[in-house]
Amino acid sequence: MADNKSFVLKGIEEVIFEERPVPELNDDDVLVEVKKTGICGSDVHYLVHGRIGDFIVDKPMVLGHESSGIVSKVGPKVSHLKAGDRVCMEPGATCGSCEACKSGRYELCPDIVFAATPPYDGTLGRYYKLPAHVTYKLPDNLSMEDGAMMEPLSVAVHAVSTLAQLRTNQTVAVFGCGPVGLLCMAVAKALGASRIVAVDIVQDRLNFAKNYAATDGFLPPARNPNESSIDYSKRASDLMKQALKVEERGPNSIDVVIDASGAETSIQMALYLVRIGGMFVQVGMGKAEVVVPITLLLVKELVVKGSFRYGPGDYPLAIALASQGRVDLKPLVTHRFKFEEAVKAFETTRFGKSEDGKGVIKAIISGPDVDPAQV
Ligand SMILES: [Zn+2]
Ligand SMILES: [Zn+2]
Repeated sequence: MADNKSFVLKGIEEVIFEERPVPELNDDDVLVEVKKTGICGSDVHYLVHGRIGDFIVDKPMVLGHESSGIVSKVGPKVSHLKAGDRVCMEPGATCGSCEACKSGRYELCPDIVFAATPPYDGTLGRYYKLPAHVTYKLPDNLSMEDGAMMEPLSVAVHAVSTLAQLRTNQTVAVFGCGPVGLLCMAVAKALGASRIVAVDIVQDRLNFAKNYAATDGFLPPARNPNESSIDYSKRASDLMKQALKVEERGPNSIDVVIDASGAETSIQMALYLVRIGGMFVQVGMGKAEVVVPITLLLVKELVVKGSFRYGPGDYPLAIALASQGRVDLKPLVTHRFKFEEAVKAFETTRFGKSEDGKGVIKAIISGPDVDPAQV
């Protein structure tokens, strides 16, 4: 049976729709009819560059990994799901038996089968097969679009809750107001942060962040000609401390800084800004190498963590926060496309706005024969 219309990346800037076979199930697998898929920066990156670091697209690959859908069939060993269930799909199937998996950090599993990461196909098809243990029932009060948004929300949960271990009444600054940055702010708010500072170089994005989850915003100054990145970042963070009355210690300090931009100067500013003994988490993916003020890490005894995808408990917490109304995902879905309009959806995400000039936060592609207006 080849009734599995899919959106396939064949090479750089080369995509086609293709009928593919419906995947065969193993005993503990679930076959999901995909209804909604969010477009991620990484999907666009594969389309434009054909690679991310060492992950190289060298054979055709179905794109997409932020998806929700309806269970169409389950393997004989699956007990917690049945055909017809509305689900969101954690797109990484881990081995369960390696050192990383057994130590509770399955995001570091060397054998992970992750959707739309070469050589594995993604979720932008009519059907997608995944193990039942990474398929979660959607609570009735969440929409299919909410279900697709569980993927970036889980990225934020992993960074802010699991890794930074943000506690009630702590303060946080998030650099970068894209989808993941905004969701980091939303998670911080849900966990009871007393101050959430958004930083971005685009005023409109800052305004959005302040309406959404941030308590304060900061627009860094322009860099002077010939100013080194470190000199600039030091100056910009001093200005920021002044403008927002941020101190190095005490109740006016920033406990946790999250970089969701990947920009060198954001990373540097965050390290200058964070309190003595504070926490820095890198979740944005940008330039592979940056200059880091290493002495600062030493004298401030900073804790520095890298955050990659999500691990045990992150999806369940993301679903709970959304279902309890602590995180509102609806304002983030700015653009909706039919399956056949996938190319347009990718272009909109790539250029940051649609033809009408509307800025994009998250573009969602509906599954084949699903109406985009049906959220
Ligand atoms: Zn993603
Ligand atoms: Zn493993």
